[in-house]
Amino acid sequence: MSQRIAIVGAGQSGLQMALALQAKGYQVTLLTNRTGEQIRAGKVLSSQGMFNSALQIERDLGLNMWDDTCPPVEGIGLNVLHPEQPGTKVIEWITRPEYPGQAVDQRLKMPVWMETFTQRGGDLRIVDVGVAELEELTQSHDLVLLAAGKGEIVSRFERDAARSPFTVPQRSLALTYVTGMTPRKPFAATIFNVIPGVGEYFSFPALTLSGPCEIMIFEGLPGGPMDRWAEARTPEQHLAESLRIVRTYLPWEAERCEHVELTDDNGVLSGRFAPTVRKPVMTLPSGRQVFGMADAVVVNDPLTGQGSNSAAKCAKIYLDAILERGDRPFDTAWMEATFARYWDYAQYVVNWTNSMLQPPQPHIMQLLDAASRSSSLASRIVSGFDNPPDLFPWWSDAQACQQLIEQYTVKAA
Ligand SMILES: Cc1cc2nc3c(=O)[nH]c(=O)nc-3n(C[C@H](O)[C@H](O)[C@H](O)COP(=O)(O)OP(=O)(O)OC[C@H]3O[C@@H](n4cnc5c(N)ncnc54)[C@H](O)[C@@H]3O)c2cc1C
Repeated sequence: MSQRIAIVGAGQSGLQMALALQAKGYQVTLLTNRTGEQIRAGKVLSSQGMFNSALQIERDLGLNMWDDTCPPVEGIGLNVLHPEQPGTKVIEWITRPEYPGQAVDQRLKMPVWMETFTQRGGDLRIVDVGVAELEELTQSHDLVLLAAGKGEIVSRFERDAARSPFTVPQRSLALTYVTGMTPRKPFAATIFNVIPGVGEYFSFPALTLSGPCEIMIFEGLPGGPMDRWAEARTPEQHLAESLRIVRTYLPWEAERCEHVELTDDNGVLSGRFAPTVRKPVMTLPSGRQVFGMADAVVVNDPLTGQGSNSAAKCAKIYLDAILERGDRPFDTAWMEATFARYWDYAQYVVNWTNSMLQPPQPHIMQLLDAASRSSSLASRIVSGFDNPPDLFPWWSDAQACQQLIEQYTVKAA
């Protein structure tokens, strides 16, 4: 294939795309700003929990290198706590999807994928790409994909105000990678604990650099009691703050944490960002264009665990469009049409995730409550993690939601 493609960013979408195009015989240049060694020696980047259909994309590309070593996440559940009675649940259910999820620490996964790319003859360059480098790349390549995640450079894509309801972060985020957590019985699961007025907490098993671990994920309302990470100046203080939160609000989770230790001093992260959709085509000063992929153009709060999943799906949609294009030029119309194909899917991820960041509407509370009386309704809701379009129209339409609840609860009765 004579088309030359440059990809900026060696994360979930950039590497998956680079490896997939390489396998199809394309000449790919992959540029990223950190070596594999630097990624391995750095802080954790994500909790990167992935569900079946995104994992299937990796399996189809032969990139599922950790299936035998990564502990499976077999269930998904929900606890909603009483707003006035600490430690009391008002909604509680758990369900077991047909296929398990998986979370491989990106510090482990990305360096291995980078090595695979270079071992197969790929051209990997370590460069912090700015506008000057993008100009050069657009001259030497037929297509430049910018997959730089939350890197500064992506702010050059114009924010799409109509698709971005928030201008400020909606959650204060923190991750704590630990060993020694008591395994959940009878099967490993992610249980979303919703603490009204405070935030959300969940944990799940994962594979990190040293082996299996559990990742604790904190989503605190900004300025609230789950937003004190700035005071935790050392990894030990970050762990202590994590334990303070579970002991204060979630006694059943605290019980599992009596013997936890950090996986490593870099197994902690805290930060915040505003969920944002951007226009997918960046026009450089020369007039040449760069096409944005995954988080660079659609970045969601991690609350629903969709970012890596969406990155895998975005890269797959773009890959198919590139293959279909053959030798024809990757012009603006092609870029817009290709992004529109991704947006057909991503709009549901955005709508669902953004709705979860706001106080739940009454029909959502009724739905979540009804799921505790109907395991098949719970399964129907949980299928949305794998494929968010499945949640619509009823997630956003109170009448359709009511019909769904009746359909399942009458069945259950
Ligand atoms: C706290 C937290 C928890 C999360 N948990 C989950 C979860 O459970 N499930 C899930 O699916 N998703 C989760 N995510 C989101 C997920 O990690 C991201 O959505 C996903 O990694 C995005 O993939 P990407 O390819 O767009 O970008 P990334 O994976 O972020 O990769 C971007 C790449 O670009 C490089 N780069 C940046 N700027 C430049 C530059 N100027 N020049 C060259 N290279 C550059 C970076 O070094 C990196 O290699 C979480 C995110 C956070 C912050």
